[in-house]
Amino acid sequence: MSWNQQTGKKFNKEIILQQVFLNQTISRNELIENTQLKKATVANLVNELIEEQFIIEAGKEESTGGRRPNLLKLNAQAGYALSIDIGVNYLSGVITNLNGEIIWKVKEFILDTTLEKYLEKIITLIHLLEQHVPPSPYHIVGLAISVPGLIDTNGIILKASNLQWHDVDIRTLLQPYVTYPTIISNEANAGAFGEYSYTYNQQHQNLLFVSIGYGIGVGTMMNGELFLGDQGFSGESGHMIIQMDGKTCRCGRAGCWEAYASESALVKEVETEFTMEHVTIEDILEMTYTDDKLTPLLTNFSKYIGIGLMNLIYTFNPSKIIIGNRITLLQDQLEKPIRAYVNDKSSSFFKEDVNIEFSTLDDNAILIGAASLAINQFLLPALGQ
Ligand SMILES: [Zn+2]
Repeated sequence: MSWNQQTGKKFNKEIILQQVFLNQTISRNELIENTQLKKATVANLVNELIEEQFIIEAGKEESTGGRRPNLLKLNAQAGYALSIDIGVNYLSGVITNLNGEIIWKVKEFILDTTLEKYLEKIITLIHLLEQHVPPSPYHIVGLAISVPGLIDTNGIILKASNLQWHDVDIRTLLQPYVTYPTIISNEANAGAFGEYSYTYNQQHQNLLFVSIGYGIGVGTMMNGELFLGDQGFSGESGHMIIQMDGKTCRCGRAGCWEAYASESALVKEVETEFTMEHVTIEDILEMTYTDDKLTPLLTNFSKYIGIGLMNLIYTFNPSKIIIGNRITLLQDQLEKPIRAYVNDKSSSFFKEDVNIEFSTLDDNAILIGAASLAINQFLLPALGQ
């Protein structure tokens, strides 16, 4: 077989695998229809994929007459991905199967944000995750790490302002400890991909994931693909300026959106207003249960979130915006005022209200999205996903 034939075969096989991956179950006839490949080619490649344990028979399809076709599905237990979310004050780790479903999770809060301390904890976490991976044909297919910062196309963390890390080649630092591919991504991009991977969001080809945690990042799905920008830096919308000469931001400039609308901005507001110390978002949630003195402050905070969302809506005209990360803890307090503000301000421009939702995946969207990127790289490398 020539190099071209081999490459072509590999590509066709991945196209079939992609179809099985995208559709929960699919028949051989549907595969022929969707891929436009010859019947014999599909039959051969499906058999190979079954032998290699990538796909399995999924039973018979309901049919009103004639022969019922055998359905195929991805063998979700053929391998597992590890996914680690580096937060500003925590580390989360999960194991997912090839469908991106979490089968094991662990989370730890961290006070010391130095790179050395994090690395030590990440290596321990990797070993812990490895111990909980069930036996399978392909074992661990990849490690995905998501970081709140600027990541270049080589996976180098150029700048993570809130962690005060610069030019960190985390993949190389971890190389002695892992035997599988490692993929590094920005946490908001991973979150956008995670949300979009869920079937109920796949109709939203233009979707924004606004990650509001210690800082703010925005992941963009554009025409059904993750938009990374020329050098991979898109989505640093937390640093768009919403107030000239405004509050100082951790990036060193003044008036950035995240200096007003992030978890850390809210915490600072509450500490100043009520002369308190070491407040957490959990404390704020607790306070809203006992009295309503926080209501005006939260309404104002919602407006600041809304101002940034308006800027994004005018730029991207998304069909859906999903707010995720730590701020989802305050969904009951923030969702209504954010929607009210945005819909009030956008009604003269757009006929329909913008679809704004809080993530239902909690902080898992980022972990699942990053894992899905690693799984795609394993299953579909030639398709360049
Ligand atoms: Zn900034």
